[in-house]
Amino acid sequence: MRIGIDLDNTLADYRRPLERLCHLHGVVAVQADPKLALRDELRARGEEHEWTRLQGELYGPLMREAELFAGAAETIRHWKTAGCEVCVVSHRTKHPFVGEKHDLHAFARQWIGEQPLDVAYLFFEETKEAKLARITSLRCDVFIDDLPEILLHPRFPGGARKILFDPGLSHSARPDLPSARSWAEVAALATLS
Ligand SMILES: [Mg+2]
Repeated sequence: MRIGIDLDNTLADYRRPLERLCHLHGVVAVQADPKLALRDELRARGEEHEWTRLQGELYGPLMREAELFAGAAETIRHWKTAGCEVCVVSHRTKHPFVGEKHDLHAFARQWIGEQPLDVAYLFFEETKEAKLARITSLRCDVFIDDLPEILLHPRFPGGARKILFDPGLSHSARPDLPSARSWAEVAALATLS
């Protein structure tokens, strides 16, 4: 069995750097999801450009403050022991759209290398369509992502089971999209045949 996993906000938990950015920008209403709180506040202030720039920092140098989601390492180790192959497929541009020209792939590679993770493949795809093509060519049996628009995309391969990783309960439940609030729930869903 081959299991595909998204990187940002599925394996990498940005809560810590996001809370710091919220604090720096005077965003006090940090609800369940500091990313949405920061984005919505900056948009409300007409600072969409600043939000775009901050994402380049977050997925660049600030990624070193991100933590692996609790339970992910144990779950992946268990899958490996059971003979599964684990692939990470990330949708990331090489450089941010605005701001400093960080190498976002290099920051992600470095972060992954520092985690207690043993992944067979790590792919970066610059567009959503390229990511879907990669999931298809890898013939993943399961794919785990925090974005419904990837899992529900018409080009998402029919043979792959979908698991929405939604720790902040940001999305409403849908019968065609099994969702997990934690990596323990991911583990339980992935083993259901
Ligand atoms: Mg993601």
